[in-house]
Amino acid sequence: MNLFNREDRVMVKGEGSYVYDADGKAYLDFMSGIAVNALGHSHPALVQTLADQGQVGMHFSNYYWNMPAIELAEKLAAKTGLGQSFFCNSGTEANEAAIKLARKWGRQHKGENAIQIISCQQSFHGRTMGSLAATGQASLQAPFAPMLEGFSYVPYNDCQALKQAVTKETCAIIVEVIQGEGGVHPMTQAYAQTLKDLQAEADLLLIIDEVQTGVGRTGHFLASQGYGLQADMVTLAKGLAGGFPIGALLAGEKIQASVQAGDHGSTFGGNPLACALANTVLDVLDQDQLLANVQARSKQLQEGLNHIRQEVGRIVDVRGQGLLLGVELSLPVADLCQACYEAGLLLVSAKGNVVRFLPSLNVSQADCDQALAIFAQVLGELQPA
Ligand SMILES: *Cc1c(COP(=O)(O)O)cnc(C)c1O
Repeated sequence: MNLFNREDRVMVKGEGSYVYDADGKAYLDFMSGIAVNALGHSHPALVQTLADQGQVGMHFSNYYWNMPAIELAEKLAAKTGLGQSFFCNSGTEANEAAIKLARKWGRQHKGENAIQIISCQQSFHGRTMGSLAATGQASLQAPFAPMLEGFSYVPYNDCQALKQAVTKETCAIIVEVIQGEGGVHPMTQAYAQTLKDLQAEADLLLIIDEVQTGVGRTGHFLASQGYGLQADMVTLAKGLAGGFPIGALLAGEKIQASVQAGDHGSTFGGNPLACALANTVLDVLDQDQLLANVQARSKQLQEGLNHIRQEVGRIVDVRGQGLLLGVELSLPVADLCQACYEAGLLLVSAKGNVVRFLPSLNVSQADCDQALAIFAQVLGELQPA
């Protein structure tokens, strides 16, 4: 289907930070399949896990336990303090689960009408009907109306508006720590404090969508941990299994009692192959101390981008955290992405004329230098619109 604006190219191979097309042309990959290839392409540990787990079983179903899923739930609990896991296959599916369980919790704890969820304008939570209703972008929703009821939208980082939106019918707030698709807008400290205050005072659930920011992307395991936030539910997906489809809803004690067998499910969710790959990603993250690399490469890229801003111009802002960086441009981002692609550098845009730098978490210093050099050259040569 004609659902994507694709480059008319077939990609056939990936290795480390590079992707190769059918003609053998190499591209430096600084989009990582939209923050998915956390360890780059064809990481030997992931290739090994694919083979090993593939030999003993890819799927048994949720009628039984499997060891990789148990291990993954334990690892995620240790890293996040959230002891309950539901595994699925994508980010939108993780958010669907969060929406369902938030509604059930609200109904049980606060009454029949307490199913309202507050979300933010310019947010992105996914493309299926529940997550789309949570996504505060009218242009994405309009063709598919009517939306699921029960959502209200507040401007991001507006503490007053958030406090005013809470009513006795509110069961949850769903929020990103950095609005990724929305243009790489990080949460302010004041907003994080308001979320903490509401959690303490308002009897509601804080759902943090870490589908893009989670699993080390910002230099913390969860971006919310960098703000001292402890969510009641966290959703993960993109980078969790390093390129294999997986999603996860993590939850704490607060909702444990309102969940029972049959409330939700997934045929493929929690299959041993996806979970084994996620376990390998988490192991490599620790063994190779990748959070430290994320911080160091982030500093390098931000310094480099600010230097380009001074020398070449055409950059309005450089922002973000870790290896989720956004560069706001004063010329059309589509032209820039196209020119970078032709010059052998893969980048992905976000709303508001922003281009995202999303390299793998183990990207090297040399690859970052190379990306900066291509970016500076392309930016300098582009004709203003
Ligand atoms: C990508 C993304 C999603 C949707 O994930 P899919 O796996 O594409 O369904 C949800 N929330 C955020 C913050 C995302 O970046």
